Amino acid sequence: MHWTTHIVSGAAAGYLIGRPVPAALAGFASHLVLDAVPHHDPDSEIGYVIDSLAGLAALVVVARWRRIRRVDPARAALFGACGSALPDVELLVKLAKDIEKEQYLFPAHDGTIEHGETHPAASTAIQLALIGIMLSLALRKMRRAHLKRASEAGESAGSP
Ligand SMILES: [Zn+2]
Repeated sequence: MHWTTHIVSGAAAGYLIGRPVPAALAGFASHLVLDAVPHHDPDSEIGYVIDSLAGLAALVVVARWRRIRRVDPARAALFGACGSALPDVELLVKLAKDIEKEQYLFPAHDGTIEHGETHPAASTAIQLALIGIMLSLALRKMRRAHLKRASEAGESAGSP
């Protein structure tokens, strides 16, 4: 699965979980599941570079965007994003040396768990749907928390 998809869905899942350590662990475990979902990895080096930059940008947004920090003071979204991003860091080794698939450590990379494969268009649709579902669940939680805060502020403003 694309690194960006891991990071965005991991951040959303982390926010939904709400606690940093469980969010990081769930993010890490979700990497296994998402790599097994049928997808198509980039064919070219440039595809990997674009995905890496987009993933990095998503991580920076989750880490730095004030609105996210305000609604998620425990930083569970950031922990979820980092947990789900982490396994793919081992893939960077191939930039420095030739490596056989079996030499990777993560079960979804060394072939222990089969990597799901599908047509590029289907892969894009699957990944966009996954991101859409995860972000809409996170936005729903955000909206509910906002409404709760607003009603609590209204109650305290109305009391003598
Ligand atoms: Zn992976």
